[in-house]
Amino acid sequence: MNSEVLQKSLDIYEYLVEMKRRIHANPELGMQEFATAALVESELRSMGVEIVPLEQNVGVLGIIRGEKTGSGTVSALRADMDALPIQETADVPDKSKVPGAMHACGHDAHTAMLLGAAKILVSMKERFSGTVKLIFQPAEETLGGALYMIEQGALDAPKVDRVFGMHGHSSYLVGEIAFREGPSMASSDFFTVTIKGKSGHGAYPHRTGCDPVLAACTSALALQSVVTRQIDALDSVVLSICEIRGGTAKNIIPETVEFGGSIRCQNMETRNSMEGRIRDVVRGIAASYKCEAELDYHYGVPPLVNAPEMTSLARESARKLVGADRVKTIDFPAMGSEDFSRYLEKVPEGVFARLGIAEPGKPAPVFHNGGFVFAEGALPYGTALFVQFVLDVNQ
Ligand SMILES: [Zn+2]
Ligand SMILES: [Zn+2]
Repeated sequence: MNSEVLQKSLDIYEYLVEMKRRIHANPELGMQEFATAALVESELRSMGVEIVPLEQNVGVLGIIRGEKTGSGTVSALRADMDALPIQETADVPDKSKVPGAMHACGHDAHTAMLLGAAKILVSMKERFSGTVKLIFQPAEETLGGALYMIEQGALDAPKVDRVFGMHGHSSYLVGEIAFREGPSMASSDFFTVTIKGKSGHGAYPHRTGCDPVLAACTSALALQSVVTRQIDALDSVVLSICEIRGGTAKNIIPETVEFGGSIRCQNMETRNSMEGRIRDVVRGIAASYKCEAELDYHYGVPPLVNAPEMTSLARESARKLVGADRVKTIDFPAMGSEDFSRYLEKVPEGVFARLGIAEPGKPAPVFHNGGFVFAEGALPYGTALFVQFVLDVNQ
């Protein structure tokens, strides 16, 4: 027999599918989620959920107040709403109506599941105390949406005690839910290095003696040795140089060369050391080639670290829904990033769960691919997990 909360989620299956399909067919890119936010807001209003007004109308913040006498703590549940600039190729009933845009990461489903959870929580107000904040954020893919919601006050008034979010995952079957305590996803920072030399004739490099192409190439090689020679091999760091630009002709040594890349770390201390390490290497190498190097470093999102106690509470909630054998442990942290980590930076008591979306006998869905399909059968599980978590922690 299904648990009460899972049954309530299965009972609104048609609603969940309808919401997911409406959003899927009308994808909007980051910070342009006007129609999606309007749909979410009108659904929440029709359920009687309080809406906190925000600037720009690309996110929605809802509030549900529990009626049970208890600790009165505040839980925030988060979904993301943005799509990706990808042309949909899958033949599905809710195929994207917007050329070149598609929900290829399942954020449409995350939004539908949180709407479903709101619907159920409103009907169960007497079963939890305190407050539930519903955060429907824009722009997760560009890693700026969580910051926007935080700046709009999503974690204040009333102050949030804990945050909970989830993402679909193709390594787990529909009905499975996975967790990982502690460091789970990487930080994501970006950098650009500009090497200034002196332009001259390709036949006479010695006349200027400062070739920025050579300095840039040597820097690119040497930066990999920062990871392998300066960082503990058990402390994961990825440094990828993904752009390099310079020159206008095959016989002119250019004045400048620019290259840039991405840095991912699991450890906050290591993350904070990378800017200095990179600057030292590129300046040192540029100087040895009689060039100058400038580093422009941009801090994106911090590593995602799940609070152990909150994770075991969420595990317990998941067990109530799907049974212990379908609650999984994620063995290794991932080097990808999630801007949910911004909420955890402000409210460390939080957890980010993984919801299985793979189906037996079908190839695993590939995220960020035009053929991506989010298994609709997973929707009630995500909805139920949001609800059960609130019932368990808002005592
Ligand atoms: Zn994505
Ligand atoms: Zn995503």
